[in-house]
Amino acid sequence: MSNYPALHMIVDGRAIDSSTAGEQAVFNPATEERLGTLAWATTEHLDDALASSARAYQTWKLVSAQDRGALLHKVADLLIERIPQIAPVLCLEQGKSIREAAAELQYAADIFSYCAEEGKRTYGRIIPSRTEGHRQMVFKRPIGPSLGLSPWNFPGLVPARKIAMALAAGCTCILKASEETPATAMMIVQVCHDAGIPAGVVNLVFGDPPTVSSHLMDSDVIRKISFTGSIPVGKHLAKLASNRLQRCTLELGGHAPVIVLDDADPIYAARVAASAKFLRNAGQVCVAPTRFFVQEGVYKAFSNALAEIALSIKVGNGLDADTEMGPLANERRVDAMQRLVEDARAKGAKVLAGGHRVGQKGYFWAPTVLSDVDSSAVMMNEEPFGPLAPIVPFSRIEEVLVEANRLPQGLAAYAFTDSMTRASEIAEGIEAGVVTFNHVTAALPETPFGGVKESGDGREGGPEGLDAFMVTRYVSEARR
Ligand code: NAD
Repeated sequence: MSNYPALHMIVDGRAIDSSTAGEQAVFNPATEERLGTLAWATTEHLDDALASSARAYQTWKLVSAQDRGALLHKVADLLIERIPQIAPVLCLEQGKSIREAAAELQYAADIFSYCAEEGKRTYGRIIPSRTEGHRQMVFKRPIGPSLGLSPWNFPGLVPARKIAMALAAGCTCILKASEETPATAMMIVQVCHDAGIPAGVVNLVFGDPPTVSSHLMDSDVIRKISFTGSIPVGKHLAKLASNRLQRCTLELGGHAPVIVLDDADPIYAARVAASAKFLRNAGQVCVAPTRFFVQEGVYKAFSNALAEIALSIKVGNGLDADTEMGPLANERRVDAMQRLVEDARAKGAKVLAGGHRVGQKGYFWAPTVLSDVDSSAVMMNEEPFGPLAPIVPFSRIEEVLVEANRLPQGLAAYAFTDSMTRASEIAEGIEAGVVTFNHVTAALPETPFGGVKESGDGREGGPEGLDAFMVTRYVSEARR
């Protein structure tokens, strides 16, 4: 494919495009065509990355927050300049529409800009002392070299988060981006280098994920892990991290409830929810709305409106200008959609829209709306990670809160209501790291993002995101 770049890792500023450790093909999910081949890191490459990260940390941690910020602003500016080149590549390897790909890269640039400024505000404090002549001070120091592990659903945004937060805090970052969508991460790391970030401050490796993560984590160099991905892998990494007590930020799966109360406008709620459900990466988003609980008074109007919108969505190759929803990122997701829809149907759900694969080539799945879905259906228990919208009626808020909180996940939750009283009741009662009312924007560079329960631990975004890459040091002096 002509405008898909040749793939390589980046260690200590050098490109590595061949290896004895193995390689993997990268495919276009819209056409199933092979886009390129990715070399896997050998043990020597990983050790080089560790040494490079440790070395670069010794100087990067001494760079002032102002100077680090100036470099991160350059990264943001250069990334924006390169969106026209990177967006089609993101689209080719991941599938989302070109409009979404460009928006994701703009968001990635916004993260760099935000971190450029927030790095200047990692303040300590002075604690009044008990003894005359003593000074008691608290400093924030970078935690050390970090390991960022990013998934295939946001190949631009998630690597940007891992890199920018680490660098703004004074840490270095080894990024192991998804092997299924490697080129976007590679182009972002290249932007970092071209903007003047010194060699070794950001290294990029690929390989067999369990081999790479266990090798890098079994090292004293890495002091912090930041992982975005599935709950089972997050639990596995948390166990590995316990060997050396590396700090973990884990952004794992969700299963977001959407509660539509009968005082809300069901048509508005359907329109807003549909944009997050279908138009955002075909539902392959950890904060995608996935369980729709609709109060009886507006149940029919909401279901009909959501189905109508789903049927109107233009599904196609992300590179086509009129495509609103691209393919799923891989065949595993298509198989999952098939399994989840068949199961819900068998348990009595009615399919109001979609429910089937689209076309013969590519991993396309129709935007799907199902009503009267039983709570025992697998899709009401397992994160669908795709364009499925199961709708269930309810009558009382107390009852819907119990159902919404029933699962081990607690990432995002959404509600539509015009009543402040009912909104407060939901905000208090729901178990989630992020709750929004009457809109579905769950994360911004400046807001803390993360889950509760099995959806993860720690926060990315906002001051909390930088704090996760810092340790608190207490220093006290006595005057003699
Ligand atoms: P998976 O569990 O195989 O992989 C999830 C991610 O973890 C991938 O990026 C993979 O490369 C990485 N990974 C796997 N084993 C690893 C290891 N030992 N060390 C380090 N990284 C490792 O699942 P999948 O088929 O890729 O995706 C399916 C599910 O994952 C989805 O249904 C969803 O629940 C979850 N997921 C969540 C997010 C998110 O944004 N939180 C992103 C992608 C996938």
